[in-house]
Amino acid sequence: MREENESSAEKPEIELEISSDIAENEDIPLRKLSIYDLQDEICNENEVDLLNLVFEFQNEGKLPCDCRECLLDITAVALNYLPPRYSVSIHKDLYLTPELQAARKVEVEAALLHACEKVKVRPHH
Ligand SMILES: [Zn+2]
Repeated sequence: MREENESSAEKPEIELEISSDIAENEDIPLRKLSIYDLQDEICNENEVDLLNLVFEFQNEGKLPCDCRECLLDITAVALNYLPPRYSVSIHKDLYLTPELQAARKVEVEAALLHACEKVKVRPHH
């Protein structure tokens, strides 16, 4: 019990030393921005729309089965059926007219219905 107390008391000290070293060392050049820093800013809008629709279908009892495997299979099949539609978050929906928006909704719904039918006929469980 005494050992536990000693080791937990030491940990914060070590962390503080490391962070103050980094903060005071001005010789370390700033790290160059990489795509991993930005990956949250690029998104497949069809994926977002599809996940929302899968959620809606599940809540309305429209999925052939909503076990873990079928949820994943349905989503994967539907995503593979749809073209990717990547955008950068700050430009999202910037040029989306109501007509285009409606067309996309139809496309995503068609992909989900296709996936539901496929998984219904051949579920993985
Ligand atoms: Zn299932």
